[in-house]
Amino acid sequence: MKYVVFRDDDTSHFTKPAMLETLYRPLLDAGKSVGISVIPAITGGQVVGPLNGPFWDKFRLEYSPCLPPEYRKEEKTFPLTPNSEIVEYIKKNNYEILQHGFQHTAEGGIHEGMLKNTSKISQLLNESQQIMNRCFGKASEFFVVPWDDASKESLKVLRKHFKGVSLNRVGQRHVTPLSKIRAASRHFVNDKKRIPYFWDGEFLMLEHPGPVLSMFNNFSLMKGAVAEWLDSHDLLILVNHYWEFFWDWNIPNLEYLETWHDIVHYLLDRKDVEIISFSQLYEKLRVT
Ligand SMILES: [Zn+2]
Repeated sequence: MKYVVFRDDDTSHFTKPAMLETLYRPLLDAGKSVGISVIPAITGGQVVGPLNGPFWDKFRLEYSPCLPPEYRKEEKTFPLTPNSEIVEYIKKNNYEILQHGFQHTAEGGIHEGMLKNTSKISQLLNESQQIMNRCFGKASEFFVVPWDDASKESLKVLRKHFKGVSLNRVGQRHVTPLSKIRAASRHFVNDKKRIPYFWDGEFLMLEHPGPVLSMFNNFSLMKGAVAEWLDSHDLLILVNHYWEFFWDWNIPNLEYLETWHDIVHYLLDRKDVEIISFSQLYEKLRVT
């Protein structure tokens, strides 16, 4: 059996339930779980420039695209609030709540996950977990690192609070000393052959194949890319960004939405694919 786990990033104070509903209703109706990675206290007002990747290259967007245009420049933090529409919507449906960073910032060109000061990291984590607890009645078990990379100092802190992390690539700098040789040896196995997860003790580190889904990619090639990955792997963490389907936060991209729903139905129909949550995956991998 092959496992597929859905991960949608950047849900925050600004997310409209209708956006997630448009993307995930077919999965929810089929009784499948979707991992929603939630930013506890999204913060605007930071010039990130080239760190915006294709949004910089194509639109010269200086501020984070994860906030709606009218809030991007505001130097302000917008915490998730209990009883807000988005919080109630997530709680009411079969979503798995993941924590996505703290404020999703890139201060002075340093991505939040790459901070090195452990007391600062602990402080941000503590504050953000209080928000998660207030909103959802519990802290998340899995952490999704903004921009998909984390410093060893961040991971040292995260390891104490979560069952695992989802990021792009696991290398020896991400793991504890006892696991370094095992992690380093993965370096010599190419992407097509490498098993996309790594146990560092009880801590599960999950890799994903990069931006398969992106508003900048050729829509006609996406399903093929998903299928190709599953040809050579038994696990796919499929990463999405809901706001890319409504760029720039107001117009549904019908072609992209149609492509997405086609991929969802393709995965639901495959008899050799099981769509599961991060916590189910943790248990399944633990016993194999
Ligand atoms: Zn993000």
